[in-house]
Amino acid sequence: MKRQIIYKYPKTILNKGTGYLSGYSHSLNPYTGCAFGCSYCYVRQMPVSLFRKEEWGTWVDVKMETANLLYKELQKAKTKGKVTIFMSSSTDPYQPVEYQEKVTRSLLETLVDFHPDFLLVQTRSPLVSRDIDLLTRMGDKVRVSMTIETDLESIRKHFTPGAPPIAARLKALRLLKDAGIPTQAAIAPVLPSSEAFPHQLAELVDRVCVDDYFMGDGSGGKRTKRMGIYNLYESLGLAEWYHPSAYQIVYDRLKNAFSENQIYLSQQGFEP
Ligand code: SF4
Repeated sequence: MKRQIIYKYPKTILNKGTGYLSGYSHSLNPYTGCAFGCSYCYVRQMPVSLFRKEEWGTWVDVKMETANLLYKELQKAKTKGKVTIFMSSSTDPYQPVEYQEKVTRSLLETLVDFHPDFLLVQTRSPLVSRDIDLLTRMGDKVRVSMTIETDLESIRKHFTPGAPPIAARLKALRLLKDAGIPTQAAIAPVLPSSEAFPHQLAELVDRVCVDDYFMGDGSGGKRTKRMGIYNLYESLGLAEWYHPSAYQIVYDRLKNAFSENQIYLSQQGFEP
């Protein structure tokens, strides 16, 4: 698929942590738009996507010259209290364009020098393992949360055909873990998965977080409903998995592989 890439020079780079991210002082998005274009992505329903005529997933704005900007904003933020950062809330910081542009890497370099109180890196891309050299320098002040909604590649292809394969994400988690970087698997949103899934994850992550459309799309599931995601479940014969209680299937299975204090639910799992 052809993607439109536009280079922009933003005036600010940090956003205030609000709503689902109110536990954070700031959120940080190296890009606007996301080439992974997941079917259920709630950003599709937000102004950034609705006011754009191109379809979500087909365009990315690259935020240029942001490392210095971030440095200045961090210095200012520090005077107001703890600096806790969620990267990223409405884009994937390690989407394909990052291979060339390295915006995320340049922001990470600034963050490593700054020493924030906490940084959560939220991605579904194995490219995050490229930055292990930087992430290790942050010790326990960082956590990499890797979205892995299912262990079934066929399901992944139905819901997020533009996203990286599950095996590549698991491999990246292995590299991160071996490097001593705190890791989390974000089963978010919960998609149909196998009974073996929790055991696969237990070898790779310190903790897991389970979330679904009903708890985690910021509108009690209304945004997801508007996008017609239920139809996809129905066409696959998986309608029972589109239900407010479906997460419990995975949550209960996780208890066979993790202790209860390693299993988090929805917003709780993304807190600093
Ligand atoms: S990776 Fe995240 S931001 Fe990107 S399309 Fe998927 S859900 Fe949306």
